[in-house]
Amino acid sequence: MDELVIALDGPSGVGKSSTAKLVAQKLRLAYLDTGAMYRAVACEFARRGLERTDETGIGELARTADLRMTTNPDAPRVCINGRDVTEEIRKPEISAIVSAVAVVPEVRRVLTERMRRIIAEHDRRMVVEGRDITTVVAPDAEVRVLLTADAAARIGRRAAELGERADQVTVTDSILRRDHDDSTVSNFTEAACGVSVIDSTHLGLDEVVAEILKLVPDA
Ligand code: C5P
Repeated sequence: MDELVIALDGPSGVGKSSTAKLVAQKLRLAYLDTGAMYRAVACEFARRGLERTDETGIGELARTADLRMTTNPDAPRVCINGRDVTEEIRKPEISAIVSAVAVVPEVRRVLTERMRRIIAEHDRRMVVEGRDITTVVAPDAEVRVLLTADAAARIGRRAAELGERADQVTVTDSILRRDHDDSTVSNFTEAACGVSVIDSTHLGLDEVVAEILKLVPDA
């Protein structure tokens, strides 16, 4: 079958995961949530009680970690060093520290290499979502999309997702502070050359998916 990598970048709360999973299901592609990989490393960092300033230790942790991703869009799971952290990676404590782990150059080097290997192992038939997929991880992807939405819409979506568990201050922090912290390593607000921008502020999930499918050759 033809190679088809769909690279999807965008900020926190923009709806990347729901969109990417649905596109993968519709096109029968594998699915990779690269944010979950950074989050898994952050879980291990927290478990070991490392200091944020210990870049050598954090890099070593990423280099030696046994990180396993299942890539079925119906039930993606992530394990690190034999522990299934699929639920743990979504905790606010992890959202609060993940950017600090993701700025460490050695972590980015190791995980980028890992992502490229996973894409190759799936014969380049995969939807990959993150912050730097269209630019660094898979700039050669057949379809490259930057998904945007204004901050108020993203905060509202994340709060709706969490329902009664939503604490407004934590949600706002997890969106706006991460926008700021993550922008120091990836430019996910401006599309690189050849990347299509979809502003989802006023679009529903199905409409966003339909826009992406229009970009897929022969879909
Ligand atoms: O997408 P998600 O919010 O789960 O990503 C968690 C964190 O992982 C981001 O805040 C960012 O720090 C980091 N990340 C990254 N590059 C990616 C994907 C995620 O730096 N490709």
